[in-house]
Amino acid sequence: MKNYKTSELKNKLTSNGHKIILFGAGDIGELVKYALNQLGLKVDYYVDNDKDKHGKKRYGVKVLSFQELTLLNKNSNIFISNNYYSSIGAELNKLGFTNFYDCVELLNNTDFKDHKFESLHTLKIDRRIEYYKNMCLKDEYSSSGELNIKNLDVQITERCSLKCSHCSNLMQFYEKPVNEDLDLLFSSLDRFMECVDKIYEFRVLGGDPFMNKDMYKVVNKLANYDKTEKVIVYTNGRIVPKGPNLECLKNEKVILDMTNYGSLSNNHQQIVKVCEENKISYSESLTTVWQDCGEILPKQDRSELEKKRKFIDCCNSDQLSLLKGKLYRCPFSANAENLKAIPFNSDDQVDLNDQKISIPELKIKIKDLVYNKDYVSACDFCNGRDYTVKKIKAAEQTKKPLPYIRVV
Ligand code: SF4
Ligand code: SF4
Repeated sequence: MKNYKTSELKNKLTSNGHKIILFGAGDIGELVKYALNQLGLKVDYYVDNDKDKHGKKRYGVKVLSFQELTLLNKNSNIFISNNYYSSIGAELNKLGFTNFYDCVELLNNTDFKDHKFESLHTLKIDRRIEYYKNMCLKDEYSSSGELNIKNLDVQITERCSLKCSHCSNLMQFYEKPVNEDLDLLFSSLDRFMECVDKIYEFRVLGGDPFMNKDMYKVVNKLANYDKTEKVIVYTNGRIVPKGPNLECLKNEKVILDMTNYGSLSNNHQQIVKVCEENKISYSESLTTVWQDCGEILPKQDRSELEKKRKFIDCCNSDQLSLLKGKLYRCPFSANAENLKAIPFNSDDQVDLNDQKISIPELKIKIKDLVYNKDYVSACDFCNGRDYTVKKIKAAEQTKKPLPYIRVV
């Protein structure tokens, strides 16, 4: 990896004269292209692992496959514009590429406010950049001893106002969904916050968090921690917030993030109106397609290498999740264990409420879960969430909870 200063980038790249390539044609790729264009630099190609994008243009730039990249000059200037900085950097190094960069400095020094992006709602830009930076800086955090968490899913209920047959958080399997026990949740959060140096984003979700009338107690608690930057409340556009569940959204740290599933999100417009009337920060995105990752597979007996691959390629393997007082690497792992659909594995979780564990020990355990995992047992029961997973219609409904095999 090479260091650079944004102010010197134009001279540096024009003087070496090699192609400029962005590895990652997703939302960060769009922001980085904009940032480079603002400096007067033209992007020659994107590279992306998603076969559907190969040979096509993305944001006006042709997308190459990884194979095509290997044929290009080894001095090409490559910016890694996706979440997998460490693994892609290592791969490029092995192939003999010398000029590759993370995009942190560039993203830090570009003003994105006055431009409309295809892939990102304006209110999501800062959040997305922060996520990217945390992914790039993971190795640094790991060696520095700091525990900076980019985001934590706080699941406050198993209940939902929709019953999507392919919910990736596995809500479709709960026969008797319940709300979280708030005493347990609050004591685990307090212990968690004693361990972390900073958390960029808490994500309050369910199911539908508005199914829990005490949602506000959680949102207020999370927003009150000094170490919290933001609290995002997720909704599917069904329940119009009112009373204390509306009041809590007015906190300046809180953003309401609405997924609009068309006619299923029947109160979407009313919610937008309420947000605007009450000056609540919100973002929304119309969603028609999902990846097919809401299934609990029978044990796949994948090899170590296959499980590692699943985990590395998974866009959710860094989505730390809190459920029933325990911390997991992803919501699939949390809910599959909660449903008893996969065997219990104490290595895949941290029990925040185990009072026998001192705070310094707990910090070590959390760091281990966050920084030192190659995969979790749940990866052997999961479709994974990478670019190869098939696309399906979003939010297809089921009337009844879906059956699954319990392991205990
Ligand atoms: S995907 Fe569907 S079932 Fe799952 S939480 Fe969202 S709205 Fe509820
Ligand atoms: S179980 Fe593994 S593959 Fe599935 S979502 Fe979690 S990390 Fe990804």
